[in-house]
Amino acid sequence: KSRFADVTLGPPIEVFALNKAFADDTFENKVSLGVGAYRTDKGQPWVLPVVREVEKILAADETLNKEYLPILGLDAFSSAATAMLLGKDSAALVENRAFGVQSLSGTGSLRVGAEFLARVLGSKYFYYSKPTWENHRLVFTNAGFEEGREYRYWSESTRGLDIEGFLEDLRKAPENSIIILHACAHNPTGCDPTQDQWKQIADVMQERKLFPFFDSAYQGFASGDLEKDSWAVRYFVSRGFELLCAQSFAKNFGLYNERVGNLTFVLNDTSYVPQVKSQVTLIVRGMYSNPPSHGARIVAYVLNNPKFYDQWKEHIRTMSSRIIEMRKALRDALERLSTPGDWSHITAQIGMFSYTGLNTAQSEHMIKKHHIYMLRSGRISMCGVTPSNVEYVAQAIHETITN
Ligand code: PMP
Repeated sequence: KSRFADVTLGPPIEVFALNKAFADDTFENKVSLGVGAYRTDKGQPWVLPVVREVEKILAADETLNKEYLPILGLDAFSSAATAMLLGKDSAALVENRAFGVQSLSGTGSLRVGAEFLARVLGSKYFYYSKPTWENHRLVFTNAGFEEGREYRYWSESTRGLDIEGFLEDLRKAPENSIIILHACAHNPTGCDPTQDQWKQIADVMQERKLFPFFDSAYQGFASGDLEKDSWAVRYFVSRGFELLCAQSFAKNFGLYNERVGNLTFVLNDTSYVPQVKSQVTLIVRGMYSNPPSHGARIVAYVLNNPKFYDQWKEHIRTMSSRIIEMRKALRDALERLSTPGDWSHITAQIGMFSYTGLNTAQSEHMIKKHHIYMLRSGRISMCGVTPSNVEYVAQAIHETITN
């Protein structure tokens, strides 16, 4: 008998399965609204011009070689990434009690951080929003946590944040629990706490001694403004929290497949830094030994050169404003068609995704009948909505709801 005979078939990963179905579909006007990746007005993937330019510079630089990076990655990258997150003048940076570790995009940074919390700090419980990015649970469970629990977040009836439920669930969480928080542009709901609500969240977390682990996958990409999109993280740091934050450069740099990420640690005293770094070093060493260099070099180059940095900031404004325009266009089109329902949530939500409110059967109908690929939860990626397909998408939603 084969050693593999009893392996059971695992569930497919919905977004990747959807991507494949989209690629296999021969319908001319098919639309991909599943995976969160930016598309040009013509529906094509976009390599940021500043990335292309820096790649040429790096390719021509014969002083660069292919030797291993240090275990914790390229310092020029992680320092710049941490400063981008916390702000150059952050007290935590000035006092040398914050540092970054280059890891494998957002996911790898979450994983290294989660494993550190579970193994080194002995954390047992992690809390995630209901709903959340579907990978949080798998990443944290595989990292060694005992149990993952939900906190209330989205209210179906108000199509907004259930702040009372959220705070109540935090109050019930055992001390030292890890609370995963989306830094901005909550995935999948597109609904973030207001500044006042963040203050209430921080109050409860401080009182209950809960530990924040921020997931920052969309800094700059959500509003076009790096400061605005890191407000919550900076606010928690200013309140004296120790915390972790996983940063992804997949969306804001369009470097999806280069796996560029940074895990920031903020401690309350610089004297703990060497010990913490040494334990993170052991975790990375035992997992993948050291990170790849290509993407990190690109980001480091851009963040450390004012001319390229400005060019990149222009790109994130292009991407975020196109998304905001498409939210308006989609809402307008639905209202023009008098599609039943209230569509104001489409423009109220921010970031890459919109929770349309379509149910599972309706979402499946969108795929089967209209070749518009979206998640069964009704989530669509606003990046896939373009001036050339927004009308088609609106008509399809209209037909789906009224048929
Ligand atoms: N967290 C959230 C909330 C995300 O939406 C994503 C990307 N979909 C990630 C983390 C990580 O993505 P990556 O590993 O590609 O950086």
